[in-house]
Amino acid sequence: MKTKTKLTIGVGTLFALIILLAAVSTYSVNSLKDDTNNILTANYNTLEYSRNMLMALDEAHTDKTAFSRFETNLRQQRANVTEMGEWEVTQRIADHFERLRGNPGDSAAYADVRADIAELMRLNMDAIVRKSETARETADSATIWISVTGAGCFLIAFILLVNLPGNIANPIKELTESIKQIAAQRYGERVHFEGHSEFGELARSFNTMAQKLEEYANSKLDKLLMEKKRIDTLIENMHDPVIGIDEHGKVLFANSEAVAVTGLDKQGLVGNTITELAIENDLLRILARKPAGVDDREDTKPIKVFADGKESYFERETIDIDITPTGEREIRRIGSVILLRNITPFKELDSAKTNFIATVSHELKTPISSIKMSLDLLEHQTTGGLNEDQRQLIESIRDDSERLLRITGELVDMSRLESGHIQLNKQPSDPMAILDYTLGAVGNQAVQRGIELVTEVDADLPVIDMDAEKTAWVLTNFMTNAIRYSPDKGRVIIAIRKSGRVVRFSVRDFGQGIEQRYRERIFDRYFQVPGSNKSGTGLGLAISKDFIENQGGRIGVESEPGLGSTFFFELPC
Ligand code: ADP
Repeated sequence: MKTKTKLTIGVGTLFALIILLAAVSTYSVNSLKDDTNNILTANYNTLEYSRNMLMALDEAHTDKTAFSRFETNLRQQRANVTEMGEWEVTQRIADHFERLRGNPGDSAAYADVRADIAELMRLNMDAIVRKSETARETADSATIWISVTGAGCFLIAFILLVNLPGNIANPIKELTESIKQIAAQRYGERVHFEGHSEFGELARSFNTMAQKLEEYANSKLDKLLMEKKRIDTLIENMHDPVIGIDEHGKVLFANSEAVAVTGLDKQGLVGNTITELAIENDLLRILARKPAGVDDREDTKPIKVFADGKESYFERETIDIDITPTGEREIRRIGSVILLRNITPFKELDSAKTNFIATVSHELKTPISSIKMSLDLLEHQTTGGLNEDQRQLIESIRDDSERLLRITGELVDMSRLESGHIQLNKQPSDPMAILDYTLGAVGNQAVQRGIELVTEVDADLPVIDMDAEKTAWVLTNFMTNAIRYSPDKGRVIIAIRKSGRVVRFSVRDFGQGIEQRYRERIFDRYFQVPGSNKSGTGLGLAISKDFIENQGGRIGVESEPGLGSTFFFELPC
C-alpha cells in the first residue's frame, strides 16, 4: 500500500473517531440534560403545586384566600399533566374541590381532596424514580460509547505512533546510507524496500541508477585497463631503457631494456627505491643523482654502460610528471620518467668521423706545408723574376694555403680533443708574453682592416701556471674573430686584469654582437651563427672552451646585439 494512502487512512480514521467521540459525548450529555430537565419541569413542578394545594387546604379555616390559592395551583397543575393517569387524578381533585367549596364544612370532601393530592404526588414521585433510572441508563450507555470510541482512537493513534515514523524514516535512512556508498564509488550497493509504496518505486529507480553507474564504471575500467596495457606494451617495446619512479623515488615500472642495462632482474628493480638500489648498482647511482640541469655538466655527459659484453653510451633525459588534481589549483609532482637514449651508434659514428678527420687533416698538413715552401722558393730571386700579376697570384695562393693550414690544424686539434689525446704542458708563464705573441700573430690582419688594437693591462700581473701555447691559441682565436666581426677601421680592446684569485683575459669588439639564443651554442662544435661569415669551421670556440676548461678555467661571452661582444676566459692564479 502506498505511504500516502496509509497516512490518509490512518489519520482519516483517527479524525473520524475523534468526531464520533465528540458527537457521542455531546449526544450523551444532551440526553442527560433532557432527562433531568424532564424531571424538573414535569414532576418537580407538580409536587410543588401539590404541596401548595395541601397548605391551602390546611389554611382554609383561617385564611379566606386559601381557596383561591388552591384554585390557582390547580389551574397550573392542569397545564402540567405529563404522566399516565395524572389527568384523571387532577380531574378528581377538581371535582372533590368543587364539592368542598360548595360545602366547606364537609370533612369527607377534605379527606377526598387530600387523598387525591397524595395520589397525584405518588404518581409523580414514581415517575421521578423511573426517569432517574432512565438518566442513569443514559449515563451508562454514554460511558460505554465514549469508552469504546476513545479506545478506538487510542488504538489507531498507538498503531500510527508505532508504525508511521519507522515506516517513513527507515527507508530514508537506508537510502541515505546507500547514496553514501555510491558516492564512495561502491557501485554494487542496492536498496530493498518491500511493497509497492513510493519507497518501493524509489528503490527501483535507485537500483537502476546504481546498476547503470556500475556498468559505466566497469566499461571505464575496461578502457583504462586497455589503455594501461597499451602504454605498458609501448614502453616495453621501446628500444631505449625507460624507468618510471614515483615522487618518493620508488621504481614503478622499467622496460626490459632498462632491466638489461642495469643488470638487475625485474623483481629486484620494480618496487624498490632508486636510492636503495643505488648502493649496489653503478648505473642507478648515476641516475639517482639530481636530474640533469642546463648548467650541470656532470649530468649531461653521456653515461657509459658495460652490458651484454659491449660498451654502450646513454644520454639521460628526466621528464617530471606534474599534475593538477581534479578540483585543486596547485600543481603536484607525482613522479618522473627517466629515459636513457642509446647514443652508442652516434658515438661510434662520431669516433669514426674523428678518426677520419684526424687522418685526412694530418695527411693534408704535409702537402700544404710543402705548397707553402714552394711558394717561398718561387718568390725567391733564384727561381727567376715574377711579374706583378704572378706575384699577386702567388700572394693569394699563400693566403689560401695559410687558411687551409689553419683549418687542418684546428681539425687535428679537435680530433685530438675528441679522442682524449690532449696533452697539457702547464708551466708558470707570464700573461704579458701571451699578449705579445697574440698581438704579433694578428697584427697584420688588424692593419689590413685598419683596426686599432687597444690593450688594457693591469700592472704587476702574476705569473700563471698554464699551458702558454694553448692559452695563446685561445686568445689569438678571440682576436681573429673580433677582427673578423668588427667593421673596417674599428677598435678591439684586449684587457688582462687580475680579479680576486683569477686572471681574466678579455677581447672586446664593437661589431654585430651575438643574439641571446645563440650565445650558449657558439661554444658547440661546428656551430656558426646563421648568416655569419662562413669562411671558418665553427671549431675555434669549441677548441678554446676545451683548452681553458682543461686548465681549470672558465670561458664565456657577454654581448649586446648591434653593439659588440666581449669574449673572455679566466685562469686561476
Ligand atoms: P669560426 O671558425 O666560424 O669563427 P668559432 O668557433 O670561432 O668558429 O665561432 C663560432 C661562431 O661564433 C662564428 O661562426 C660566429 O658566428 C660567432 N662569433 C665568434 N666570435 C664572434 C664575434 N666576435 N662577434 C660576433 N660573432 C662571433
